[in-house]
Amino acid sequence: MSDSSKSVKVFKYRLYPSKAQEKNLLWVLECARHLYNMALAERKYAYQLEGRTVTLADTEQLAKHYRATFPYADQMHSQTAQSVVKQVDEAYQSFFRRLKTGEKSGYPRFKSRNRFHSFEFKQFGKSGAFLDGKRLKLYGIGRVPVRWHRPLQGTIKTVRIMHSAGKWYACFTCEVPTPEPLPKMGRVVGVDVGIAALLTTSDGEKVENPRWYREAQAALRRRQRKLARARRGSQNRRKRLLEVQRQHEHIANQRRDYLNKLVYALTLHYDGIAIENLAIRNLVRNHHLSKRILDAGWGYFKARLTHKAASAGREVALVDPASTSKTCSNCGALFQDFDLSTRWVTCACGLSLDRDHNAAIAILDRAGWVTSVSHNVAPLLFSHRGNGKRRRAAEAARL
Ligand SMILES: [Zn+2]
Repeated sequence: MSDSSKSVKVFKYRLYPSKAQEKNLLWVLECARHLYNMALAERKYAYQLEGRTVTLADTEQLAKHYRATFPYADQMHSQTAQSVVKQVDEAYQSFFRRLKTGEKSGYPRFKSRNRFHSFEFKQFGKSGAFLDGKRLKLYGIGRVPVRWHRPLQGTIKTVRIMHSAGKWYACFTCEVPTPEPLPKMGRVVGVDVGIAALLTTSDGEKVENPRWYREAQAALRRRQRKLARARRGSQNRRKRLLEVQRQHEHIANQRRDYLNKLVYALTLHYDGIAIENLAIRNLVRNHHLSKRILDAGWGYFKARLTHKAASAGREVALVDPASTSKTCSNCGALFQDFDLSTRWVTCACGLSLDRDHNAAIAILDRAGWVTSVSHNVAPLLFSHRGNGKRRRAAEAARL
């Protein structure tokens, strides 16, 4: 089979290590972090003191040496050690790439415990990591129980063990057959990231802000207040910190889940999807709920949409975001007296439309697709208020 018939998919599962296994996991994580910092130090000081450039091959020697000499470091598998020095190498590569392109370029930094959360086994199925019955056998750690909440697909290539908010996960990178492209729908859409609604489409559909978002944020603020009140260095403070981390994780999970559903609905119903090519750094913190959801999720949304579209045979257009809201989608004139509070736009050409709907049409126009579909059709997309069953029934009735 050629490479284009395969694609890569990541499956993440929760691990339930025993006390002893968790101790091992923490130790291997600590060894990986220690080696990471050493490899970084070697590069940094070799250059600063001797003007010498350290190569990946040099640091691979360091990794070998580290495992052989540092007490108990051989509990970390050689594959893990190699992937750690590779990680340092990649950090440098992207640093130099950013320097070249003139982006903001922070020097690769030493990792404290708060900034180092995972380690990898590069060749799954070999001595480092393999499946033993339903458990995951990891070198130097043991046979760890896994919660297989969904079936794994394809061939496992690598596995990365992650520690997050006190929980352990295994992320399997698998090679799966590329899915068949979805049937053509003969429709294209422009999507505006809203202020009042989360998203508005050029068909005039609005995706409202999820109710749970505000609630989850309130819970986070409550937990942060408790943390702030806890005495430094106390056992209580550690517990409160874990609660805050878990709430952050919960919000991130909810957001990802929600955005994935939106991406799925968009790629299911439209052949082409046009969105604004917003840089993440341009989405400044503000008081509008929708923007805040997408503040943290915009990069993810864009990446998922592009990825999903590619595998489904759909097209994503990233259009110039300059004054899409201010432009009349009918005649192209710029609106006068236009600001954030303008909810309805009217134009001398006769256009009278919701502000975000107008922007979504302008975004679609900028994609330059030829389309004969009218902008006012029955809502197709997302009715996230109902449960899945009701939504599928409604969709079936429409077809
Ligand atoms: Zn006009």
